[in-house]
Parts: sequence; structure tokens; C-alpha cells
Amino acid sequence: MHRLLPLFVAFFAALSGLSARAADEKPLVVSTNTIAHDLVQQVAGDFVRAQCLLPAGSDPHGYEPKPADIRHVARADLVVVNGLGFESWIAKLVANSGFKGPVVTLAAGITPLTGACTADHDHAHHHHGDIDPHAWQDVRNVIRYVENLRLALVALLPEHTAALNTRAAAYTAELNAVHDHVTKTLSALPEDRRKLVTSHDALAYLGHAYGLTIVPIAGLSTEQEPNARQLAQLIRRIRAEKVPAVFIESTSNPKLARLLADEAGVVVPPSLYTDSVGPAGSPVDTYLGMMRHNADTIAAALR
Ligand SMILES: [Zn+2]
Repeated sequence: MHRLLPLFVAFFAALSGLSARAADEKPLVVSTNTIAHDLVQQVAGDFVRAQCLLPAGSDPHGYEPKPADIRHVARADLVVVNGLGFESWIAKLVANSGFKGPVVTLAAGITPLTGACTADHDHAHHHHGDIDPHAWQDVRNVIRYVENLRLALVALLPEHTAALNTRAAAYTAELNAVHDHVTKTLSALPEDRRKLVTSHDALAYLGHAYGLTIVPIAGLSTEQEPNARQLAQLIRRIRAEKVPAVFIESTSNPKLARLLADEAGVVVPPSLYTDSVGPAGSPVDTYLGMMRHNADTIAAALR
């Protein structure tokens, strides 16, 4: 009778859809955004069941958790977040779910950038010194993300420590290769062409790490929008500084950027992927693919 018990537990868990994890079941790792989810898949592979609360292509800023998200977090064995305030909604979601397990903050230990004031903004919506959460736009920060993730996975699956270490090391080698590619691609641009006008302020880390001046149309969150006077100033700046393109992002509304590009008479290159990976099966469905695409798209438009 005793050796049949796990079978019964698994059977009833499957029936009800409510599982306390059976001994032979893989742990569930729930991520709050698609980039974190990709890192989990790269490092943990088949050792876990990986689940992401947000679908690819959705805007993580101002995300409103759904009832299903509470159930997913309640069942998780590990929750993975970016941190730096990117998921303003996660603390409440974790509390509501009753989840008492480990939450790993990928950005723990990195040196964050703070938002700069880019124009004479409407200060009602602009916060000087806000921490910029988009740290993954510097590939070297993601090497730290992977180390934080590796430690959390090893704690979750100590029996697979060696394999997890090997996978993390192999993926870190790929991160280093992409860091070199982005560095090489963007440093090939002439100095006076390294100005990037884009939808929202998601690329400060990219600019800081790889030598671009970032001119965001909106603030650190996609929810902060400029007024008409600020837009007029931006158009004048694009013309005066002969900026050749205005970029759009897959997770931001492109309306303002397109309007700006039209007014300034410059092109709108293919979307950059800033806050989410792209659709499954596309070349941008991983973090590495997204960073390669962004560097190549920026270089092609600004050269
Ligand atoms: Zn963002």
C-alpha cells in the first residue's frame, strides 16, 4: 500500500490541477518577465518546469496581474524577478498567493543607473534619481544575473549542481560572445552618429556600456509621456543634430515615435526589443537573439 501512495498523490493532484509537488516531479520556476524566463530555460534546461507570467511582446510596465498569476505563484518552487523596481506589482502578488518559497532577484549586486532628466519635463510625472530597472541592456550585468540564478537553482536542485554549473558556464561564454559582438558593432559607428532616439527610456545601460547617447521620448516607464512642447524640442534637436532615425520598441506604443520621425523627416527602423523577447520561433525569441538584433539594427540605421 505504501509504495502506491505517491501514485495516488500524483493522480489526485493531476485531477484537481492543484499540486503540492510530488517527489518525482520537476520544480516549477515562475518568472515575472520574458527575459528572466529565457535565462531560466538557458541555465536550468529540462531540470525544471519554467513558466512566465507575461506573454512575449507584452509591456511589463504597469502590468496588472491576473487571477491565474496568483495560482501560478502559489504553486511555484522558485520565483524569479528582475528587481530594481521593474515589477512594482510582484510584492502584492506574492503576498496574495501565500507563496513562502524563495524569490531570486536577478539584478542583486549590480550597480544600478538612475534616471537622468532629459528635457524640462512636467515634473509631476518625472522623478529625479529613479532607479533604472533595465539593467539587462548591458550584457555584463546579465552575467551577474546568471550567477544569481545559478545559485538559486543549485539551492533548489542540489542533486544537479554539477550539471547546472556546466550549463551556466556555457551560457556565460555565449553572453561574453554577444557582449563582444555588441561592443564591436556599435563602436564601428562614427562618434557623431551615436545618438539613439527611442520610445521610452529603456536603453541607458546600453548607451552607458557601449558608447551611445540615448535620447528617450518617454520616461523610464512606458507610462510617462512627454507634452507637445517637449516633442517640439525633440524634433528641433533631431534636425539640428542630424539624427538619422527614430527607433520604436516592440513593447511600447509606436505612435509618438512615428509622429516624431514624420515631423523630423527621418526613418523608423525595425523595432528594438527592450523589455521583452520577441515571438517564439523568431530570431529574437531569446535574450541573446534580442541583443544581437538590437545592435545590428542600431548600427544599420545610424551608420
Ligand atoms: Zn521599460
